Amino acid sequence: MASVDYSQVPIKEKAFYKPELSEVVDVLSRGLKANFESVSVAAVDCPDLTQEPFNLTTPGLSGNAKLIELGGPPYLVPLVQRDKIYDLAALARHLQRDPASLLGAGAGPWPHIGVNCEGIIDLTVRNGSVTQGTHIVSVEPVGAKKGASGYLQRRLPASETRTALLGNYLLSDGSPGKVIKVVAKKRIGSANFITAIRETLKNHYGDKVVGLGGAFLLRTGTVKHHVMPDFSSSALCSDADVDGWLHYFDMRAPIVHLGTLVTGDLELDLRVQHFHGRSAHGDGGHYHYDTSPLAAHYEGYFTLADSVYRIDPPPVTHTLGRD
Ligand code: ZN
Repeated sequence: MASVDYSQVPIKEKAFYKPELSEVVDVLSRGLKANFESVSVAAVDCPDLTQEPFNLTTPGLSGNAKLIELGGPPYLVPLVQRDKIYDLAALARHLQRDPASLLGAGAGPWPHIGVNCEGIIDLTVRNGSVTQGTHIVSVEPVGAKKGASGYLQRRLPASETRTALLGNYLLSDGSPGKVIKVVAKKRIGSANFITAIRETLKNHYGDKVVGLGGAFLLRTGTVKHHVMPDFSSSALCSDADVDGWLHYFDMRAPIVHLGTLVTGDLELDLRVQHFHGRSAHGDGGHYHYDTSPLAAHYEGYFTLADSVYRIDPPPVTHTLGRD
């Protein structure tokens, strides 16, 4: 199947408000204490993310950092649009980015395995050649019990650079540089790690919209993820329909999550947060929240983005399927 031609779809770019790193460190240091018993935030040189436990294809998160929102949930529900296949190597070429690192959360390339799947996107282009660190997770039937399901995580080969339907990515040169390190332990509030960061920034910056992306590790504890099964043949017309269609699993740390968050919409129909995780032990999917607040130990590295590219937005939108 042909992938979307980027010269034929709308692409808009809008700037974020970009505060000083030291100010964001102060804001998060104070604000996150409402949600976690132990909070430590600092501006640090990014550790080499190609090493354990992150194992990314690029060492850092810096260099011309922007967010990308590609497609959107209206291409998935109420009914799938199978023509929404996006080639990420072609996207980097279209945006004239080399080196380019794309990290984040999206739908995986269903044509690759023949069924819908989650994508934990990590693709680097350097001197025209692709290093593919993307993992995908699909729902798999297990056992004889009716309705029982499991999941299977696998890594894409470098020859497969497609995704589908929707995605939220950090685009950067993948260079070393200063990042915001956030360590939070023992959750005492109701917000998940990313919601707590987003709401803290939103409360401080108000209408000045901030966007960031990066990676976080859940070091200990368990976490609720969903994995999309194959496309629904009947229309999913409400959040309850979507919820009943998704498969939810408790997954075990350590899990590395990649994605983005924004504190406002910029009138671009942006998804406010979206992180997917993968692990060496095969657990992975779409992050909702940890299920072990006392054991929760998060360690994240984030970079502030200059702007967002809104690419091929659905012409008719809705609020379904965005949790
Ligand atoms: Zn997702």
